Amino acid sequence: MATIPRMAYADSTGQVFDHPRLTMAVFDGYRIREPLADELVPLPPGGDVFLLPGRLPLGFDRKGHLVEFAGDDDRLTAVSVFLPPAWLRLSHPAVRKLPEAPVLPLFAYAPVGWADGVFWTTALRIDPERRQDPALFDTNAIGQGVARDLHRFPGNRLMMQLRRCALDYGCRAAQNFFLKRWECPLPTATSCNARCVGCISHQDGAIPVTQERIDFHPSASEIAEVACLHFGRVEHPIASFGQGCEGEPLTRGKTLVEAVRLIRQRNPHHTVNLNTNASRPDVVEELLEVGLSSIRVSLSSPDEQHYNQYHRPQGYTLEDVKDSVRRARRRGRFVSLNLLVFPGLTDRETEVRRLEELIAELDVQMIQWRNMNIDPEYYLDTLDASEGGIGLAATVKQVRERFPQLRHGYFNPYVE
Ligand code: SF4
Repeated sequence: MATIPRMAYADSTGQVFDHPRLTMAVFDGYRIREPLADELVPLPPGGDVFLLPGRLPLGFDRKGHLVEFAGDDDRLTAVSVFLPPAWLRLSHPAVRKLPEAPVLPLFAYAPVGWADGVFWTTALRIDPERRQDPALFDTNAIGQGVARDLHRFPGNRLMMQLRRCALDYGCRAAQNFFLKRWECPLPTATSCNARCVGCISHQDGAIPVTQERIDFHPSASEIAEVACLHFGRVEHPIASFGQGCEGEPLTRGKTLVEAVRLIRQRNPHHTVNLNTNASRPDVVEELLEVGLSSIRVSLSSPDEQHYNQYHRPQGYTLEDVKDSVRRARRRGRFVSLNLLVFPGLTDRETEVRRLEELIAELDVQMIQWRNMNIDPEYYLDTLDASEGGIGLAATVKQVRERFPQLRHGYFNPYVE
């Protein structure tokens, strides 16, 4: 993009405008600056424009001065975009937060500008897979799939939960299950042994949750029934424990071990994956023993202090998490890091160095670069200050060059 897009903002009715003279500014977690040409992309299909209540937009004038725009509408607000899956946000919106501003809901806010008739943002596509591309989701077909499967398994409570996820929450993973393709979600846990600052299904403070947590415990046979149905009708199927609408699956260890045993009795192949905080290496070991294929470990930072600040582990440590990874690698199972990426933390030189040390030490095979869903200033207030970072695009590039064998993406891969 040769020219910098114009700054965007919204009036009190929520209508979005581009400013005739001010250009787009971004906040990279350290300072407010102009977006770099190679950071800018047209807003990908499926991206949403979000208002930022209680925040005024900032932009650059023709002299390069940073200007706050309040217009003559006292409820004018800044705007941002929420990117579709498989896209990594490279910076935050540039705003001035007003004293009465509310904490923003748990989404990953990316900056937005306007040019050539479209919205622009700063992002890079991190996974070429189209698994959650909105264009591939037909509402009628989803509805028919739900009716078909619930008719066949009327008593399966997990199937009913997935109906809710697919139709009420619009969960792409649950919709893919009913569309008989790719990855099937297996939510099972109502509780968790962490208290992540940005947990989308459980909050005990100022931030509203964006995902209602499952409120019952599916049985091992209900879980196996759903997974085996999926394995029986999909090419290269994946079934995954650990979804946004639940707590930590390892807190249901006994049931999961029994469920995987039942699945493996009927399906020795195909991918049974565990998205997890990897807090219980003993339970991970039992799951590996009965046939778990892969684990994806959520991590806000490889640095213990930053890890504890975000995940607030209850009764486990980052060392336990590493132990779970070692046990999986010892058995030759596939391990991904689910790195919760935050401009202003993930790209700090110390963080990048520690990430590289962790990848080398634990021999992980994939990084899933996931935007951290959180109010940027709310999270930055919890972090120690930092001089600066190398930038997220440079971080991804450096890790790619240092570990040519390492996979990069967003979605769990099929592994035998
Ligand atoms: S590990 Fe998952 S469920 Fe548990 S607090 Fe963190 S985000 Fe929430």
